[in-house]
This record gives sequence, C-alpha cells and structure tokens, in this order.
Amino acid sequence: MTQPTSSHPTQTVDAVIVGAGFGGLYMLHRLRKLDLTTRVFEAGTGVGGTWYWNRYPGARCDVESMQYSYSFSEDLQQKWSWSELFASQPEILRYANHVADQLDLRRDITFETRVVAAAFDEAANRWTVRTDKGDVVSARFCIMATGCLSTARKPDFPGMDSFKGQTFHTGHWPHEGVDLTGLRVGVIGTGSSAIQAIPVIAQQAAEVTVFQRTPNFSIPSRNGPMRPEYEAQWKATYPEQRAKARMSRNGVLTNPNDFSAMSVSDQERLRILEERWQAGGTVFMAAFNDLVLNQQSNDAAAEFVRGKIRSLVKDPATAELLTPKNHPIGTKRICVDTDYFLTYNRDNVKLVDVSKAPIEALTESGLRIGSTEYAFDAIVFATGFDAMTGTLTRIDIRGRDGETLAAKWEAGPRTYLGLMTAGFPNLFMITGPGSPSVLSNMIVSIEQHVDWITDCIASLGARQIDRIEANRDAEDNWVAHVNEVAFKTLYPSANSWYMGANIPGKPRVFMPYIGGVGNYRVKCQEIAANDYEGFELSSSAQAVAAE
Ligand code: NAP
Repeated sequence: MTQPTSSHPTQTVDAVIVGAGFGGLYMLHRLRKLDLTTRVFEAGTGVGGTWYWNRYPGARCDVESMQYSYSFSEDLQQKWSWSELFASQPEILRYANHVADQLDLRRDITFETRVVAAAFDEAANRWTVRTDKGDVVSARFCIMATGCLSTARKPDFPGMDSFKGQTFHTGHWPHEGVDLTGLRVGVIGTGSSAIQAIPVIAQQAAEVTVFQRTPNFSIPSRNGPMRPEYEAQWKATYPEQRAKARMSRNGVLTNPNDFSAMSVSDQERLRILEERWQAGGTVFMAAFNDLVLNQQSNDAAAEFVRGKIRSLVKDPATAELLTPKNHPIGTKRICVDTDYFLTYNRDNVKLVDVSKAPIEALTESGLRIGSTEYAFDAIVFATGFDAMTGTLTRIDIRGRDGETLAAKWEAGPRTYLGLMTAGFPNLFMITGPGSPSVLSNMIVSIEQHVDWITDCIASLGARQIDRIEANRDAEDNWVAHVNEVAFKTLYPSANSWYMGANIPGKPRVFMPYIGGVGNYRVKCQEIAANDYEGFELSSSAQAVAAE
C-alpha cells in the first residue's frame, strides 16, 4: 500500500464522498445539482459497493426488486426492468452501473483508491482527506458512504496461512468467479450469505461440509421470473407505493397485519403463519404486529418455522441441529433462501455442529476440531462483517482537538440521528449507527439520508454558515432513545451482529435505530425544520467577529 507523502492538498473541493455504492452514487448526483465540486473515492474498480464485493454463488437481495431500487428518478424506475422477483447480485450490479452511466457519475469518482485518513482543521473549517494512493484533498464536507457491511471478517484461527487449498470470503468473492466443480468444500458459517451460497455450491462441489455455530431461521423466498403484469402494476403505482414505503416501519411494503399473534385463535394463527410462509420472504415477520415485542407471540412463530425445518430435512438428527433454539425469531437477521434446508437431504452435504466443540485451527489439508481432521480443496468463510462501525473506525478520522472517531466510539458508536457525531463538524454518515439502516430497505434509508444531507448543505450555503456539528446533549439524548426503544424489543437478547456480538471484544450495544423508518423520517424532518435543532451552526466570519 502506498502511503500518502505530501501534506499539501492535491485537490480542493466542496465535498469528498467515501464510497461509490448506492449511497455514494446518489449523494454525488445530489451535490452536483447544488453545483458543488465533489470527489468520490472508491476502493473497488467499479461502482456498486456491497453488490460489487459480494459476488458469492447465490447472492441476491432479500427485498423484492420492485422495491429495492432508487425512487428519486421517475425515468430510472420506469425504464429499468428486473428479470426476477428478487434480483441476483449480477443484476443489481448491472443496475448500479446503469445508474452511474445514465447520470454520468464516473468522471467524479476515483477508483481503486481507499481513504485512509481524514482530519478536521478547526481554523479553516475544512477536512483534509488522505488516500492510500497519496491524494490529499481539502474539502468543506466529508461524507461517509461506506456502507454498513463492508469490512469482511475472518476468524483468527491458528494456522490460517497453513492451508494449502483455496480460501474465499463471501464478501470478497473473486471477480472472475470460482469453479468448485468436483471439489471438497468446507463452508464456515450459516448466516444470510451462507444460506444463499450453500445450495448453489452443493450443486457444483463433490462434497460440502457446513460448519454451523448457530442455526438460523430462514424463510423460502419463492423467487421466480418477474411477471409482466406484476411489474406493470408496480410501475403504474410507483409514486403512491414509494410514498407508503418511506413512511412504513422498515421501508418495505410487507402488507403488515396490525394485530397481536395472541389476539387470534391457535387455528387462525397457524393459518396466517402458513399464508406468510407460502408467500415467502421477509413478509413473514409482518404476520403479526408483536413478533419482536412479545415473547409468546415470537415463540409461536418460531415454533411454526421449527416445524417446517423438521418437515423439510429428512435426517432427524440433522433437522434438530438446523433448528434454532437459542434466540427469538427475527432477532438475528432473518434469512431468506432457495432450497436451503432441502440441500441437507443431498448425499454430498454434511453438517457439523461447532457450537460446543469449535474449529480449533486450519491445517495444511483443511481444518481441525479436537482430534478430528477435515480435508478440503477449498474453504469458504461466510463469517460476516465488522458491521456498522468497523469500516469507519478503521479510517483514521480525527475531529476537533485531534479526537479520533475510533477512540470516541470505543464503548460503542455515539451519533445524533446516525447522521453526525459530536466533535466531528461537517462530517456526515449515510446510514450511520443510530439510524434505521440495516433494519430497513437500505435504498429507502440511503435516499432519506442523502436528501436530508443535501437539504442541510444547501441551507448552510444559503445562509453562509460553514460549519455544522451535533451537540453533545442532543447526541446523548439520541443514544439514550436508541437504547430505550431497542430494549423494549426482544432484539438485544440475541448474540447478533446488530449487538456487535460477532466480533470478539466489540462492545455490546444495539447499533441500528429500531423506532421505524417513517417515525425516524418525521423526526429528521422536524429537526431540520426547527433550524437544525440539536446541531450547532457557525461560520468562520462569526468566529472572527466574536474575537
Ligand atoms: P453473519 O450473518 O454475521 O453470519 C456469519 C456466520 O458465520 C454466522 O453463522 C456465525 O455464527 C458464523 N461464524 C463466525 N465466526 C465463526 C467461527 N469462528 N466459527 C464458526 N462459525 C462462525 O454474516 P453474513 O451471512 O455475511 O450476513 C451479514 C449480513 O449481511 C446479513 O445479516 C444481512 O443483513 C446482509 N446480507 C443480506 C443478504 C440478502 O439481502 N440476501 C445476503 C447476505 C448478507 P454465529 O451466528 O454463531 O456468530
């Protein structure tokens, strides 16, 4: 990695955006419309963020295609056609590239360049941003569009380098693809990525051995080709549907039932759960309005899915291992699959429980658990991410008085609205911790943040205010509120990545905001309308006048 050598800016712009995923692309588009000069830095060779990196077999979105797309341009949403109900990773990546082409975004994006540091200069009210290629850019605003799941994580097993076969992480899948035909493959992990990848890998590989620490609840996607009449119906009603999604609980139209699972008879409850199971996808969790609030309601839904797993998997011992028992359904990210459980009926697929006897080491030929050696040609790490904070704290971000973001967030992320953090003026986060982000349709939340940030920057410009910073009291109150609403739900009881539980030593803090996408949007709008309540606005001119 080339280290920056010069301390003099090689470029001066109004804004630097870090990342060219869906957040960075739309942010660039909006800032251009304000006539701001903007430079985007992107570590990859192309646009797409999550969908650029996660190319593992079977990768696809859990939100329906008609809803997982930008809504800001009528032209874009009318002209683009999705081929399947749930789009695959290659198709979503094609869509990201299409948007970049249509809006002519690439000329302001520097690819293959990672931002390594950003420091705030208090006197100038500007950020100095440095990259691994030696760029030093001075910017009024620094906008982190770094994604919530962008720092892939492998466990640090002893002997990681000793394995002679191939290793892959789902979040860094080789762009040229991988041919696993005829190979003996070990897959570590059973989260969303693994649950999508395992059925596809099993069709190629000679043998697949899955190492499972925690079984997960998964709902069949019922994916299929896009029906022309379904697409037409969506396109005809897009404005109303998008408006509804923006004000919904999680940015996805799930046709939610607004009554408790306990308010209906046992027979009616089962009928509704069966209807949702047959419909497929995450709409399952909207079968009742209290599945993540009431343990009894949750137990009923969880038991229903456990019954499904037992009926799908032929070998009773394997079925029992695959049946989640240690967390309420939905409190670890609910998975959506195509034939995941049925895959364990194949002769070439084996499940190994590592909940009590963990993987101890990688060896030359595979891996070792106790005295048992497992030999592989390839090992797939589907072991997740240092979610929500990992990417931000790995960048050397220094705010006022040289305080680093990593130090400030040592006991867990602290933000005001998930948009800014006190002590770091003019630094915005798109879908930062403390916002609905990963509990929502990411594109809905991305658009809401980008629109809010754009309006904020425009308002500051119009009033010749060149500095905005979250106030510490407002931030403390927001963090307390984020916690309060989280602890009214069943979520914190699970060892999930929402809680930082997947990273040894990471503080246990519920990171996203669970108060609902619609409520959150209204709160953000009210704060802006109230002259950015909870933020401190100032300008160099005022500071000079006050001296
Ligand atoms: P993940 O949900 O964090 O799953 C990681 C898996 O690896 C877990 O099963 C975990 O077990 C296991 N693991 C980690 N370290 C291990 C170790 N030392 N030994 C054995 N097992 C180990 O990661 P992911 O599957 O990549 O998904 C992350 C998130 O990305 C999802 O929750 C979702 O939000 C998003 N995603 C979405 C889609 C989609 O829209 N379709 C697809 C993929 C990912 P434990 O559970 O015991 O920690």
